[in-house]
Amino acid sequence: MSSPYPHMLAPLDLGFTTLRNRVLMGSMHSGLEERGDWQRVATYYAERARGGVALIVTGGMAPNPEGGVFPGAAGLYTPQDIANHRLVTDAVHVHGGKIAMQILHAGRYAYGKDCVSSSPIKSPISPFVPRELDEAGIEKQIADFVTAAVRAREAGYDGVEVMGSEGYFLNQFLCLHVNKRTDRWGGSYENRMRLPVEVVRRVREAVGTDFIIIYRISLLDLVPDGQSFEEIVQLAQAIEAAGATILNTGIGWHEARVPTIATSVPRAGFAWVTKKLMGQVSIPVITSNRINNPETAEEVLASGCADMVSMARPFLADADFVNKAAAGKGATIAPCIGCNQACLDHTFSGKISTCLVNPRACHETELVYSPTAAPKSVAVVGAGPAGLMAALVADQRGHRVTLFEKDAQIGGQLNMARVIPGKEEFHGLVAWFETMLAGSGIDLRLKTEASVEALAGFDHVIVATGVSPRDPGIPGEDGANVLSYIDVLRHKAPVGARVAVVGAGGIGFDVAEYVTHQGASPTLDAAEWRREWGVGDPSEVPGGLLEPEPPVAARAVTLLQRKAEKPGKRLGKTTGWIHRASLQARGVRMLGGVTYDAITPDGIVLGGGDKGPQLLEVDTIVLCAGQEPNRALAEALTQAGVAVQVIGGADVAAELDAKRAIDQGARLAAAL
Ligand code: NAP
Ligand code: SF4
Repeated sequence: MSSPYPHMLAPLDLGFTTLRNRVLMGSMHSGLEERGDWQRVATYYAERARGGVALIVTGGMAPNPEGGVFPGAAGLYTPQDIANHRLVTDAVHVHGGKIAMQILHAGRYAYGKDCVSSSPIKSPISPFVPRELDEAGIEKQIADFVTAAVRAREAGYDGVEVMGSEGYFLNQFLCLHVNKRTDRWGGSYENRMRLPVEVVRRVREAVGTDFIIIYRISLLDLVPDGQSFEEIVQLAQAIEAAGATILNTGIGWHEARVPTIATSVPRAGFAWVTKKLMGQVSIPVITSNRINNPETAEEVLASGCADMVSMARPFLADADFVNKAAAGKGATIAPCIGCNQACLDHTFSGKISTCLVNPRACHETELVYSPTAAPKSVAVVGAGPAGLMAALVADQRGHRVTLFEKDAQIGGQLNMARVIPGKEEFHGLVAWFETMLAGSGIDLRLKTEASVEALAGFDHVIVATGVSPRDPGIPGEDGANVLSYIDVLRHKAPVGARVAVVGAGGIGFDVAEYVTHQGASPTLDAAEWRREWGVGDPSEVPGGLLEPEPPVAARAVTLLQRKAEKPGKRLGKTTGWIHRASLQARGVRMLGGVTYDAITPDGIVLGGGDKGPQLLEVDTIVLCAGQEPNRALAEALTQAGVAVQVIGGADVAAELDAKRAIDQGARLAAAL
């Protein structure tokens, strides 16, 4: 049978070694290394290698303490460190995979007062002014890169990735944005690129010829005074000459105000930049960012954008991505929806990374779906994220599962998320649940309200009946000009030209996004998306940074909340700014610290300001005031003496999200 993804699955000959396909698992910080449980680190990577990926790049390892992303960041300093890493490399090699260690020097992004850089210029995302390195200091940094690479080789790695993009240390020398030096490490581009080229040259000298060196090159800085494409090509060629084996793509400094990996970024939205580098060097070039399924990977490769693809988060969502694709079972790959909720948001909160759609990610040794020795009959009520995951895991373990859903479709709240422009990936998540249900032994009963009587005969009853919108009790809220978010998102109720959104949580933001859009979602129209965020061609504008051209909003929207804090403050750590910026670009007014005195036919009367009650004249008021748990069934069952386990929003509605719902469903079913 011919392969469905011939380009993606083709081996790549690197001369001294061959990669089994064109898929690289990109570097991600898991938080596991710093906790010292190296068996767990090894198991995490081994599952990905067993799943078929050709080459794994580890999370960033600091070459020295001053270059660590935060104090205590993992590095490779002692014989014990080398022994720990050896557990990882051995585990990956058992499964025929290869693994490279990323050397990540954060420069001025290091969260510590000892941070160093090309010039003493603080970044907008860090509180520390870096120390400007002198000649000896630069030499020390190069030596530390080399030592890290040599130790990586000793630890059994197949190579290293030298992190030269995302605004980290080496990138800070390359760009005038930070590098204000006048010595041989600053000024002309030849001088500014001296450091990354020296690092690669000396690492190659030290590790020999049969060791992979990936250089992660910034193809689009997306900050002022970024590199021109001419300079990038000059660097790429010099890096090749210095001994790199592969060039990997990096997009955007961390301080850039352009989303680069969030769910609203078009799929493979930056592959066009990598394509510009193709033919300029003779070593393989890798593209990255928002490639999350085998079709996109195949298309990117078949259209000559790159020689290999890098996917990172998709390997949290599904360790078996490559094997499933190769087996023609692409639809069973759990999709990364680009939400960042359990991976990057965890990293930035100091928690271990995991994945919204796969709670086992980075928890492989602790959350195990082992076959049951005593199959039970299990009823799950509610086919939202919590119920779906509980049903699937219970089925996978060998239980007999019946899943009741009163709607005509599965998905629950996910069905509202997926209509929001920029959240199209949620379609894929619902489709994945549908595929998995179809391939399972689960007895799915749609349009079926489960009664106490119907549930009484099961060994286990899991109630995942979800939530209902909270009634904010505003006088006049029964007026014809008042809608709930469900009316708008599910029932497509007509919305006037001037809108007040009551409640600025995740759903209030989503509704504001929904009603201000017109035409196709920019996520599905890459050129429009680039215009909206100001992404240009680095051949025409240094760093690829243009003035954003926000679209005209479809409606005039005011987003309201009672808390006297910045609306949107509690949204996702790494994505909240994108939601706020997107709405601001559409002219959405955001008001905190208000009270809702009354709703009249003319609008909503707001208190809380100095001037007394004020009428905000609007045509439609949309209520997004949070949710209450649907517990009626659980209570009726308990009263009837039927033991129940309640999960998802029906358990705790406050701050419910799909991450908690799926995690809770999976853990309960794993323990049945
Ligand atoms: P939420 O995040 O709890 O927000 C509820 C909003 O309603 C708050 O702004 C709250 O602010 C307001 N509110 C609460 N009680 C009120 C009352 N009695 N009267 C008037 N206003 C009231 O809930 P949600 O927006 O419904 O979202 C539900 C969950 O889905 C959230 O946990 C969220 O994380 C998740 N979600 C996430 C995303 C995402 O992008 N990651 C998107 C959609 C939903 P004040 O009390 O200050 O007025
Ligand atoms: Fe992807 Fe979200 Fe999972 Fe992160 S948490 S890997 S973004 S699905």
